[in-house]
Amino acid sequence: MTDFAQTRRLFHLPDGVIYLDGNSLGPLPKAAKDRVAAMMVDEWGDMLIRGWNEANWMTMPRRIGDRVGRLIGAPDGCVVMGDTLSIKVYQALASALDIMAEQDPKRRTILSDNGNFPSDLYMAEGLIQTLDRGYQLKVVTPEEVEAAIDETIAVTMLTEVDYRTGRLHDMKALTRKAHAVGALTVWDLAHSAGAIPVDLAGADADFAVGCSYKYLNGGPGAPAFIYVSPRWADRARPALSGWLGHERPFAFDLHYRPGDGVDRMRVGTPPILALAALDAALDAWEGVDMADVRARSMALCDLFITKVEARCPELSLGSPRDGSKRGSQVSFLHDEGYAIMQALIARGVIGDFRAPNAIRFGFTPLYIGEAEVMAAVDILADIMTNRLWDQPQFKQKALVT
Ligand SMILES: *Cc1c(COP(=O)(O)O)cnc(C)c1O
Repeated sequence: MTDFAQTRRLFHLPDGVIYLDGNSLGPLPKAAKDRVAAMMVDEWGDMLIRGWNEANWMTMPRRIGDRVGRLIGAPDGCVVMGDTLSIKVYQALASALDIMAEQDPKRRTILSDNGNFPSDLYMAEGLIQTLDRGYQLKVVTPEEVEAAIDETIAVTMLTEVDYRTGRLHDMKALTRKAHAVGALTVWDLAHSAGAIPVDLAGADADFAVGCSYKYLNGGPGAPAFIYVSPRWADRARPALSGWLGHERPFAFDLHYRPGDGVDRMRVGTPPILALAALDAALDAWEGVDMADVRARSMALCDLFITKVEARCPELSLGSPRDGSKRGSQVSFLHDEGYAIMQALIARGVIGDFRAPNAIRFGFTPLYIGEAEVMAAVDILADIMTNRLWDQPQFKQKALVT
């Protein structure tokens, strides 16, 4: 049984704050602060450029990729870290389309849904324009996805957990259906990695991507990850052919040759300070059983839903009620959601707002328990019952919501 009292002690949690936004930016693991401080002096400071060899900076994207891989059911050697999630979406989709162009060149449709995070859709639009081969992006509702997977689809590009509602796709079933009609799959695990058990190998996913600053607590702007199935790893053509994805970067050849397996998905110089923070953050997962995380996260979400519905009748549930169909977050809907969230934050309950009307709360068992859920409900009920959100300072829109 995972010791959640112990994992909680690993995080810096400010006094007076109930942090229900670990789905957007995980809190600071104390070990990350110490690791980065030490590496700044001992490695960057004293080793200088020798750090690339002596401190093994150059192999960090793969070593840390393996650590992330263990949380998402990927065999060692199939995951590499780097860049941002948007860029990894682009690379995965481009590689999948490229394989399909050889296998079945008539197919021209990429399937996604309107619960996907906009950046994924934007990257697909940009890639379609750049390739100029007549691809189209077909966007259906999440409920329509399964029926829309047919022989016209080249690649499905889906995010397993909907960022706004928390709705969970059945990765295994949808992947099976995609393969049955001859399509490839790109899965975005942004709200899955560290939130729910994921079994990429078991689901037979082709490509997967995700970020490490949400449930993996790697810090603002922490590098993304990309998984390529061993079936495609030596066939995938990375659309962004940077020197560190080259077979021999230090041969300085004039022409690109892709490196071995997933290494080819590297692009340029990796962010070593950010990787050091992430490496330390991942220590928090040692001894953690994702099945325990899932059970506790469902219990916390259920408790929150029950209490909020009992005490705040003006809020309507924006997430699936059935915990097995939901990720690790809960949304409630209200036309004044923005002001309500600002009022909550002013009282120390930090969640976030997603337009047009969702207030969103992430439940992260590593450092959140029943006591925080109950305290957050008390404050939310006070704000709703007494209309404390109805003040001009809470309606002033900030740059980041
Ligand atoms: C958080 C998130 C992103 C963000 O992409 P970045 O490039 O890291 O800014 C993209 N896609 C999904 C599905 C997300 O949840």
